Amino acid sequence: MKQSHLFTKTRREVPSDEVAKNAQLLIRAGFVHKEMAGVYSMLPLGLRTLRKIEAIVREEMDGIGAQETRMATLHPSEPWKMTGGWDGVDVLFKLQSRTEKEYAIGQSEEEIVTPIVGEYARSYKELPLMVYQIGQKYRDELRAKSGIMRGREFGMKDMYSFHTSQEDFDRFYAIAKEAYLRVYTRTGLVAKVTEASGGSFSEKISYEFMVLTDAGEDTILYCSACDYCTNVEVAGDLKEGENCPKCGGSKLTKAVASEVGNVFDLGQRYPKALNYTYKAEDGSDYYPIMGCYGIGTTRLMGVAVETFADEKGMVWPKSIAPAQVHLIELSGGDAAVKAKADELYADLMKAGVEVLYDERDMRAGEKFADSDLIGIPLRVVVGKKTIETGQFECVRRQTGESFLLPDAAAITKDALYV
Ligand code: ATP
Ligand code: MG
Repeated sequence: MKQSHLFTKTRREVPSDEVAKNAQLLIRAGFVHKEMAGVYSMLPLGLRTLRKIEAIVREEMDGIGAQETRMATLHPSEPWKMTGGWDGVDVLFKLQSRTEKEYAIGQSEEEIVTPIVGEYARSYKELPLMVYQIGQKYRDELRAKSGIMRGREFGMKDMYSFHTSQEDFDRFYAIAKEAYLRVYTRTGLVAKVTEASGGSFSEKISYEFMVLTDAGEDTILYCSACDYCTNVEVAGDLKEGENCPKCGGSKLTKAVASEVGNVFDLGQRYPKALNYTYKAEDGSDYYPIMGCYGIGTTRLMGVAVETFADEKGMVWPKSIAPAQVHLIELSGGDAAVKAKADELYADLMKAGVEVLYDERDMRAGEKFADSDLIGIPLRVVVGKKTIETGQFECVRRQTGESFLLPDAAAITKDALYV
């Protein structure tokens, strides 16, 4: 993509109404546009990154046998009334039509997915069954100060599983947990999983996937000797500095974290409320056991900004960067330099490298500042020196390391594989 063609522009000033680093940087770099508190539009560069996150999530969910759907986000009120969510879910947006019909706007999709699956999976032979979608969710959140990490409209992958027994849910949870951890690793993040919490009559059992970041809204206690981790909200009497209740081998550390995913063991609650039974082998009717599995795709994007950014701007891991190479020409009107840069751009595109090509007529300092702000992993500069030496000057955004590469093939190899 040519940067002169990109309709968004960077800006130097920090938006005065944003306290979160992720929102400040994403707005300054032209990745997102703020519509109001908690609501952001994705602009071309932001959408590229979000799509990469979604593609990773999709691959991992397909890989564990889940089937992708796109469920409605405008919901009839009836199933919400049947489950008690209409009055019980405080973040649910509700609206009324001209004819005074009532609707809910999707904040989660149990009320939609349960009747859908219930229509098809009528026999134990059809279970287990996992369906998911990647799309927008709407929640009437009270606070929206964390930028894209807490939106009133935000991106989420939500998956739902249906089982004939608790053992089968537990078996699948173990598989889903591994897939979740792969999603975070592939986006460059390290997530910890909290111990199962909740489970009283009014609460669902949940497992949370937490990434350590000061921008998060949760506080966790974790053990550095084993994988024990718990949310302090539900940790009971446990305190920082106490011995790990799981391995005893280390003292618990307290940290601020962001919940980038969540799994709920929903039991039979939704099938019961929405009258979904299947025929078991013995011919009798049973309610399936249900699980739901969320990943905040836009929150993940915000956490990645918070985790990797430095004082100059964003630093994207290769897997979710809006492009792999930021090509910058410093021709200053020199036709030979311009031709060399154009040729490299064409060669890289041909080789399947995603390139943001800064061919704007601007000072080098401004181009470099924009490049640092946007945070593409590899910067390649074409200037007069390139013509003299035949070498391309490269800089890694993450480390600042600079080095020379001889041609498009070497740059391609570095951009895609190193
Ligand atoms: P939180 O405790 O942060 O409000 P939650 O328990 O309400 O999260 P879920 O209902 O399980 O979250 O949603 C699944 C995932 O969607 C969460 O783990 C999180 O990553 C993401 N998420 C939830 N609410 C928001 C929001 N308002 N903005 C962005 N992402 C969100
Ligand atoms: Mg919430």
